[in-house]
Amino acid sequence: MTYLIYARKYRPDTFEKLIGQKPVVQTLQNAIKNDRIAQAYIFSGMRGVGKTTAARILAKTLNCQHGPSPTPCNKCEFCKEINEDRSVDVLEIDGASSRGIDAVRELREGVKYKPIRSRYKVIIIDEVHMLTPEAFNALLKTIEEPPPHTVFIFATTEFHKVPATIISRCQHFEFKKISHKDIIKHLLQIAEEEKIKISSFGLNLIAEAADGSLRDAQSLLDKAVAFSGEVINDDDLKEILGTISRDFLFAFSGSILQEKPDEVFPLVEKVIENGYDLRFFYKELIQHFRNLLLVKSVQDPQDLLPLNEEDMKVLKEEAQKASQEELLRYLVALQQGEQGLKFSSHPRIYLETFLVKLCHFKQITSLKDIMKEFEIIKKELKSPSGKSFTRENSQNQEDFQENLPPEAPNQKINEIISEDTGEEKSKREREIETALKDPSIQSFMDTFKAKVLSVEPIKGTNKKDK
Ligand SMILES: [Zn+2]
Repeated sequence: MTYLIYARKYRPDTFEKLIGQKPVVQTLQNAIKNDRIAQAYIFSGMRGVGKTTAARILAKTLNCQHGPSPTPCNKCEFCKEINEDRSVDVLEIDGASSRGIDAVRELREGVKYKPIRSRYKVIIIDEVHMLTPEAFNALLKTIEEPPPHTVFIFATTEFHKVPATIISRCQHFEFKKISHKDIIKHLLQIAEEEKIKISSFGLNLIAEAADGSLRDAQSLLDKAVAFSGEVINDDDLKEILGTISRDFLFAFSGSILQEKPDEVFPLVEKVIENGYDLRFFYKELIQHFRNLLLVKSVQDPQDLLPLNEEDMKVLKEEAQKASQEELLRYLVALQQGEQGLKFSSHPRIYLETFLVKLCHFKQITSLKDIMKEFEIIKKELKSPSGKSFTRENSQNQEDFQENLPPEAPNQKINEIISEDTGEEKSKREREIETALKDPSIQSFMDTFKAKVLSVEPIKGTNKKDK
């Protein structure tokens, strides 16, 4: 018997078996039941989530000897032909390799004729966004006046690149990312069927690496079996996936959370020694901090983060080293740093300095504390020498002081400085100059500059996440 890769062997042959796309399936099945078949469909979504599989199943529902039926029999000749890629009436075209005008012209010629044996001619164009503009134009003419008994199904991973003129003539279905849970469930089924031994940690590793693509998960399992045989141990799997070992990530979070910048340099050295890509490592580190924040924030994280008991315990212990607010700030800062790392011409130095900065994060006073200090200094300003800093014309000096917006002290200071006009201005300027010479003001300004203006992550925490 020839060897079939899992993605082929376990390709769903009915809508019921299609994983994670319930709304799409239900709508398509209803359309067939009610004889409301569109002439052109567009299936969009990331790779490996079932778009072309759904297209083939749709072709079978249309052409099954016992159909059109929402549940093709998979036994009749028509179904079998489609399952075995040899139906003369179901054409599958790869938009990436046949992207030119000639391919589409050929197609237009082809669809002029009735289906040879089946009820419908079904044209599936995968990666349709790759077609050239000329090819799209030719295609548009065909779907504007579609030949009867022809159904087009376009699949794309980049929906935004498909011209609006095409989209407007199609029924659009958005395919979702496959959930972590569904991927693991499916991998478990394959493992059972194939008598493969793999730990739940291993299954999680694969699901995480596949990141929503069922096909990627299947081919990673293929790879693992090819590498280790039927018993897949965790270390082999890590090697195949090139995953950053968990211990590594904990070493990094440990040095950050326990404020040990001296540990950063040897750790980065190790990352490089191990041949990890720095940007890949960084992504994993973000994921790790996300997991820390998650176990810190959610009462029962097991559902969102399927880890075994031991791993969950270790993660929770690590999260104990910081407050939820601190973890949030680390995570925001890490995310903001990602672009910088991506474009840095010295990624290693960028990474080192960034991580050292994170190690000092806890010492950086929160904005709340700075505002407390600000309030104290404001009170000091009420002393006779400081009075000049408040609005003279204000009916109620107290009100004015209360109404300082807490989130933008620097803006308020600028306002105070620039608000008055005319003759008063020079007098005011002199007053401000005097005030600025006051040691308490100077020390405040210094603290302010050091703590707020130089620390981007804090500003980010407040401004981001609109
Ligand atoms: Zn059939």
